[in-house]
Amino acid sequence: MGADTKQADFTITIAGGGTAGWMTAALISRLFTRGYKVRLVESDAIGTIGVGEATIPAIQIYNQMAGIEEAELLRHTQATYKLGIEFVNWREIGHSYMHGFGGVGQDLLWLHTHQFFLKYKDSARLGSFDDYAFNCALARRNRMASPDKRNPALPAYDLEYAYHFDASLYAAFLRRRAEMQGVERIEGRIVSVEQDGESGHVTQLTLEDGRKVGGDLFIDCSGIRGLLIGGALGVGYDDWSSWLPCDRALAVPCEPVEDLTPYTRSTAHGAGWQWRIALQHRIGNGIVYSSSQKSDDEAADVLLANLDGKPLKDPLPVRFTPGRRHKAWEKNVVAIGLSAGFLEPLESTSIHLIQTAIFRLIALFPRRTFDAADIDEYNRQTAFEYEDVRDFLIAHYKVTKREDTPFWAYCKHMDVPEPLAERLALFSSSGRFFQHVKAELFREESWVQVLIGQGIDARADPMIDLIPEQQALGHLKDIAEVIEDNAERMASHRDYIAARIGK
Ligand code: FAD
Repeated sequence: MGADTKQADFTITIAGGGTAGWMTAALISRLFTRGYKVRLVESDAIGTIGVGEATIPAIQIYNQMAGIEEAELLRHTQATYKLGIEFVNWREIGHSYMHGFGGVGQDLLWLHTHQFFLKYKDSARLGSFDDYAFNCALARRNRMASPDKRNPALPAYDLEYAYHFDASLYAAFLRRRAEMQGVERIEGRIVSVEQDGESGHVTQLTLEDGRKVGGDLFIDCSGIRGLLIGGALGVGYDDWSSWLPCDRALAVPCEPVEDLTPYTRSTAHGAGWQWRIALQHRIGNGIVYSSSQKSDDEAADVLLANLDGKPLKDPLPVRFTPGRRHKAWEKNVVAIGLSAGFLEPLESTSIHLIQTAIFRLIALFPRRTFDAADIDEYNRQTAFEYEDVRDFLIAHYKVTKREDTPFWAYCKHMDVPEPLAERLALFSSSGRFFQHVKAELFREESWVQVLIGQGIDARADPMIDLIPEQQALGHLKDIAEVIEDNAERMASHRDYIAARIGK
């Protein structure tokens, strides 16, 4: 008992209990089984941002590490599966394409399927590039295949998939787990942040009723306001709105419909885009737009005119600046979640950035001395990650044929960061794409689907002529047929969820 009490001297205080706060608390309290005390301060009166329903496949790693079973997740958070994203009206009005998770087609020699598509799409009048990706074929049919080879009752496929879930239910679910693992939850509004006069380290948080909450490490999960990292420590913020022009959002849930779509739909509008996410109990919707081009009322009109069912609430407004903190870790404060930055909801990377921030913090967990080497490495990795994701998002706006509104004309002609410009130039000249470092989040398959989907003007790799035309076209036909045949045999998304939950 004595030894445990002594080791429990290191206190981790988390400020904020949204998705970021509870994801952090749930994982750290599960892994740090001795020597650490975890507290979380949150204010019910302030509440959480209440949006953030779509994820990417790596969420499965977090769930596994946090000890969360898939059936439990589906049951507690009204979750559905996500196989990818459909982009409507992004290339041009009336056009749609899918970015499916996972692979596309089958290589011939070292040449990837997209090269054959680029070479013959016009001359052979090929359909859509989606036809060569199993995820897309399933998604378009509202079907889902089993990722679980151990269950012979279900078809066996290795699929890359993520989830849509109700973010408030997910946070509540994680909270229950975290509290069972010993996290102390403190309800109250933080009104001031005390710092050590010499080091500048945060020493305690003062709550509205006068209570003081101390700690050794403080994790700022206070959301967009960044109470500790920005408010107390004054760490600045890089504004990327010249590349990511949307800075407002309105979210509204509506009644569910029969078809449970296993993909997020992103529909471009004149000055931004709208998301649609089918959960078991409702459909989540929201519009993301540029405040310089559209008023909140105009955006609300567009959003409400494009719902499947009756809205269940009034639209919830959110203002944000796309960008990131100069440093996510400063002194003894690590910012995780919206306090560290926010790009925008496109491609659903924000919860993923929370997850990788937690993993990174665990990998570089500080001694009490808070060594600069750990902090600098953390900040280097974070900066790389945000810039990497940023460039993928910018590509969606930049590569378009749309010029029908000032918003799209601006996006199409804007200058983009140098590494992205180089990537786009290489892909245009030869369909070639290289992942430069392992840490890049989106792999070649993702980039290729988005660039081709957005309508980039690209020539194929000249080496494609090593394969005779007839053989190349036969190869593409075989891929599409096998995919179609298999997709047709899979269970409906709705039935599949029922089977997984055991209903
Ligand atoms: P919040 O949810 O804002 O939580 C902040 C917490 O801090 C709350 O508990 C609050 O009470 C507390 N707090 C604040 N101030 C105080 C105080 N003074 N005293 C005490 N407590 C305080 N991400 C995705 O991955 N997928 C998506 O599909 C997606 N869609 C999005 C759509 C929109 C429009 C927006 C804006 C974001 C979206 N995101 C999405 C991002 C996602 O919502 C966030 O990353 C996620 O919810 C984490 O938020 P958070 O926990 O950092 O902040």
